[in-house]
Amino acid sequence: MINRLRDLSIRRKLIAMLLFTNAVVLALVSAAFVVNEANRFRTEMQTELTALAEIIGNNSSAAVAFNDRQAAGETLAALRAKPYIRTALIVLQDNTVLARYLAPGSPVRSLPFAVIAGDRLRVDQNSFHATLQRSRSPLAIGENIYGVHSIVLDGQQIGTVVLQSDPREFTDRLARFFLLVAGVMLSALLLVYFLASRLQRLISTPITHLAQVIKAVSADKNYSMRAQKQGNDELGTLIEGFNEMLVQIQQRDQQLEAQRQELEGEVQRRTAQLSAANRELNQTVAELRLSKEAAEAASLAKSQFLANMSHEIRTPMNGVLGMIGVLLESGLAGEQRRFAEAVRNSGESLLSIINDILDFSKIEAGRMELEPAPFDLHDVLGGVLEMFAAGAQRKGVDISLRLDPALPRYVVGDPVRLRQILVNLLGNAVKFTCRGEVRLAAAPMAGQGEGWLRFEVADTGIGIRPEAQAHIFESFSQADYSTTRTYGGTGLGLAISRQLAQLMDGELGLASEYGVGSTFWFSVRLQVLTDVPECLAQQLAPLAGGAKYAFDALILVAEDNPVNQDVVRHMLGQLRCRVDIVANGELAVAASAEGKYHLVFMDCQMPHMDGFAATRAIREREQRAGSGRLPVVALTANALAGDRELCLAAGMDDYLSKPFDCRQLAEVLLRYIPERATTLPEGVTAAGPGENSTQGAQVRVNPPEQHGGAPCQEKASKEPGGPEQVGETEEVEVPIFDRDGLVQRLGDAEFVEMFVQKYLDSTDKLMKLLRQALEAEDYAEVRLQAHSIKGAAASIGAEVMRAVALKMEEAAQREQERPGLPALFGALERALAEFRCVASPAR
Ligand code: ADP
Repeated sequence: MINRLRDLSIRRKLIAMLLFTNAVVLALVSAAFVVNEANRFRTEMQTELTALAEIIGNNSSAAVAFNDRQAAGETLAALRAKPYIRTALIVLQDNTVLARYLAPGSPVRSLPFAVIAGDRLRVDQNSFHATLQRSRSPLAIGENIYGVHSIVLDGQQIGTVVLQSDPREFTDRLARFFLLVAGVMLSALLLVYFLASRLQRLISTPITHLAQVIKAVSADKNYSMRAQKQGNDELGTLIEGFNEMLVQIQQRDQQLEAQRQELEGEVQRRTAQLSAANRELNQTVAELRLSKEAAEAASLAKSQFLANMSHEIRTPMNGVLGMIGVLLESGLAGEQRRFAEAVRNSGESLLSIINDILDFSKIEAGRMELEPAPFDLHDVLGGVLEMFAAGAQRKGVDISLRLDPALPRYVVGDPVRLRQILVNLLGNAVKFTCRGEVRLAAAPMAGQGEGWLRFEVADTGIGIRPEAQAHIFESFSQADYSTTRTYGGTGLGLAISRQLAQLMDGELGLASEYGVGSTFWFSVRLQVLTDVPECLAQQLAPLAGGAKYAFDALILVAEDNPVNQDVVRHMLGQLRCRVDIVANGELAVAASAEGKYHLVFMDCQMPHMDGFAATRAIREREQRAGSGRLPVVALTANALAGDRELCLAAGMDDYLSKPFDCRQLAEVLLRYIPERATTLPEGVTAAGPGENSTQGAQVRVNPPEQHGGAPCQEKASKEPGGPEQVGETEEVEVPIFDRDGLVQRLGDAEFVEMFVQKYLDSTDKLMKLLRQALEAEDYAEVRLQAHSIKGAAASIGAEVMRAVALKMEEAAQREQERPGLPALFGALERALAEFRCVASPAR
């Protein structure tokens, strides 16, 4: 109900409120009127009845005095004229009824206090009084009305007249009155309704108007609309507030719109900037990609160049150093000896600088890889110390080695690189110490797992200033510039050593006090071997000392070049191996099928079937047959990076690049067939007792004759009748004939002449084939022949030949370089003539 009221419109609510209020007020007033009127009527009727009773009492006093019922009855009978009188009694003092009147249809029973006692009617006084009492109450609307009067005679009451009136008279009057009041009330309410519906407009009109405006605003979002104010009351204030709010919303909207437009502009600006930046970025990325590719190409070129350099520089340097060795042992004295020694020292340091630079560039290119192998750690440490013992002694510096009792002896790691770090640190320590001592110590690292070792090189040398300590590990950097003047060096040693220690999972650091000394330390992690493997002693022997071996083994060599065949056969013969030689891969595959060989040396480039294909075929066969693995070691004239990977990928076990020497062959055999090896007693070479040692061979050779390159030319130009000036200027630095190297590789000098002669014979044939191929423009054949010539030249040490043949081999592969082939062929012919001049046994 209340809810229903709440949902009504304001107008209806106002009307309903006014109507309700007025109805309540009118009802109350009317009720008061009605009650009042009812009382008045009643009182009036009672008075009227009482007066009538008095008249009847006066008229019947004689009848009562004489107890004359009849007369009394007649008096009462006159009441017939009053139809509203229902009953009348004349009651004696003893409460007995003398006479009674009953209007037609009214039973005696209608008198509640009348009691019938025997044949008479009596009045029960108590009940009579109670009835009178009740009938006089203002609320006794439906009750009968009584009129009572005493009958008095001579001042004495002798009886009582009781009249009972029908209430109909009263209720009829009351009903009429009530109808009247109801009519008045209805008219009043109608009037109220009429007035209310007019007056409510004062309040409801502004509210309805406001509501309409609100609806319109919210529907159209039109904040420029305003509500009309109609007065200064609260509604007026409300409308004013609402309009004010609209004004603010409108302003806010305008501001928002302005900001939105500003933002949109900003976003457009930023988007434009971003896409410009994006374009720039893309361009930069493209440029960077180009630069990266260029840098990678440059880096590749650099590493190729370095790989070539290593060979190209180291080979002649070895020649120079070898010859200086020979020179020094040829009985030089005085100044000449000093000069020669100076040349040797410079040569040695040049070689070590070259090695450093190569290592460093390898590390920089991320190409430095460790080659783990089992080795004797104590031996390595002892060996390194020994290297510096003499030098330190000469300077009057004590040098000592302290090995912790817990230091493992046999470990797996890269002994070459470990030795390199130790040599660097010890070399520096000895170099920078003039008195006192240099100590090398090695111990397991406390608190670390097995295999963690720490090495320490402590000296009492010049020390390093604190500010220099931080940067001496940077490449090419030294403690101060005077160091270079006084002690030389490149500033690469420590940088390389630190990188190597890191490659071995460790670190390298130092503690130093200027003027007092330095302690360099480094840690590495190696694998500790608890048992000494059977083969370890044998494997380590050639590294550690000059022990000689013989092998009871049958070796297959696949090699197409006759010179190389002879060289390998000779070297393997030195090692007491039995050798079978085949000239191509096909034959090698067939020969190895017999299963009698212990190891195969496989040339990579051969006609019909090359070494890679042959090895793959051997491996496939092994797999099919489920037989054991035959060790295959590649022999290749290509010394470039990546060859090793190619060989391993083809299924080969190892790799030897030409020219290799007897010792390298022995090492390979020890690695793969240690069970076939026997150690020879001291002083006995594999070729048999009493053979000339390498040393002896070197002493016997004639230095000026067997020295190649520039010196030969110098001599030739000075000596009349000598060979003509030959060779290109760019080839001048390469020796025409590295006889020293050849002797070293062969293990003796006895057969050098024979090999040279064989080389010349076979190369003459190859040159003919090469010329034919060139004339026929058969470049594949040119390449093959040039490769063959290159391989033989490498084996014999004909370095210029080798270099030119390599160029031809490469040029034959690249179309744009092919026009240069005839000129190269000319150079090759000249180089051969030159070689003949320098090396021919006829000379
Ligand atoms: P190099 O010795 O070839 O110059 P290193 O990288 O081995 O290069 O050493 C860098 C520099 O660190 C040296 O030039 C020297 O100044 C300083 N240094 C290295 N070891 C020692 C040492 N034991 N005592 C004093 N200074 C040292």
